[in-house]
Amino acid sequence: MHVLKDLEPRKVFMFFEEISQIPHGSGNTAQIADYCMNFAKQRGLKAIYDATGNVIIYAPGTAGYENSEPLIIQGHMDMVCEKNADCTQNMDTDGLTLMTDGKYVWADGTTLGGDDGIALAYIFAILDSDDIPHPPIEALITRDEETGMYGAMDFDPALISGTKILNIDSEKEGVLTVSCAGGITAHCVFELSQQYHRPAYEYEISVSGLLGGHSGADIGKGRLNAFKMLSKPLKHITDCYFGTISGGGKMNVIPQNASVIIGSDDEKLDTLQQIVKHCNDQKYGGDTDPGLLFSVKEIDTRGKVKYLKNKCYLYDMYDFLRCFPTGVQTMSDSIEDMVETSLNLGVLELKDSELHCDFLIRSNSEGGKEVVAGTVRDFTKSIGDEIDFVEMTLSSEYPAWEYRKNSPLRDRMIEVFREQYGKEPIVAGIHAGLECGIFAKKIKDADIVSIGPDIADIHTPKERLDVASAARVWEYVKEILRRSR
Ligand SMILES: [Zn+2]
Repeated sequence: MHVLKDLEPRKVFMFFEEISQIPHGSGNTAQIADYCMNFAKQRGLKAIYDATGNVIIYAPGTAGYENSEPLIIQGHMDMVCEKNADCTQNMDTDGLTLMTDGKYVWADGTTLGGDDGIALAYIFAILDSDDIPHPPIEALITRDEETGMYGAMDFDPALISGTKILNIDSEKEGVLTVSCAGGITAHCVFELSQQYHRPAYEYEISVSGLLGGHSGADIGKGRLNAFKMLSKPLKHITDCYFGTISGGGKMNVIPQNASVIIGSDDEKLDTLQQIVKHCNDQKYGGDTDPGLLFSVKEIDTRGKVKYLKNKCYLYDMYDFLRCFPTGVQTMSDSIEDMVETSLNLGVLELKDSELHCDFLIRSNSEGGKEVVAGTVRDFTKSIGDEIDFVEMTLSSEYPAWEYRKNSPLRDRMIEVFREQYGKEPIVAGIHAGLECGIFAKKIKDADIVSIGPDIADIHTPKERLDVASAARVWEYVKEILRRSR
């Protein structure tokens, strides 16, 4: 115990260590919520444990700040529990085994929960001190951010009065995050023929070796979609039957692998090998996906795969794969290098005579989702002669956190940053979801900025918190409070 006792800022690391001794994986937050409630009670602060499991602690402004506008400081109480294969720790019942070398803090064999324990440690250190000037604070500690932002989703905005929100759930010091993407899923269904044929030869053509990645955070990196790459060999294949297609599997992951099964009445392995070689020679992966590999093999599905009788289907599949929209659609004009709208075709499967596909659409502006959904709809109508579009349904919508042109909180934070660090902060948006998006939608006129100290490899047992960075961000947060009179 007290492994971190020599680290500065002492109080921050003391609370960080206390939190680490309470198991608090997503879905297992009752104990940490109790801890938050007790913390408030012991200090005579008003606190609410709301109906969904969030904790809100209210602290009045210090002398001279009694009538200042309240500041909401927000973080999430749950952490991702991951551990090494040989680690015996029971993360449901036991605390973490903290380690430090003075430069970093990590947990032995498990995730650290620096994401988002550092937010709670800062909040407690502020509320526990009597020498930090601050405006009225509404500390909003949400539950289960990591598994679906359930605490934020169900949060009742009537429980707070402030509109300025300092979210401490980013992992890069020096970056002020001011926008995040919203999303919506477009599920499209196409009808194929039910007339089948049994060819003499069967072949599987595959695409593998792509990097894939997160369909939000990595979509701007130009990574290839395995389904789209299947169109490359299909372009050259004639006189074959379409059997089935598979690959990808997760809407929020850029598909790394995909394959198509085709049939032929005569032996074609040589021809197909030449086509595959030709595709490999083209090096379509370039610098972004150098591992891209096309391959072909003869297979025997023993009648399990049904081939469509009309050979035109193979050409229509080629058309489909060549034309479906995926990847970056537009870039932001307010934030440099930020993707504004994108989509990812992550799921494509044949169920009987229906082709189902799921596009995850993201946009950092509210209107962008509709525009991209329109692009998908246009595509569905343009496809082949044989593939009949049946329907497109939109679901699982969540809001974008749009960039605010006028943001007094951001202005103040840029000013403080400049003075403390002697340089400009990076003002950025992320093309993925954050709790801030939900608060931006729920709280009228919300003015939100997200920050945090350097934490590497979050959500993995390699997660480590940079001690010096945590100390600098602590000074930064205190100065923001002092200026919030
Ligand atoms: Zn987090």
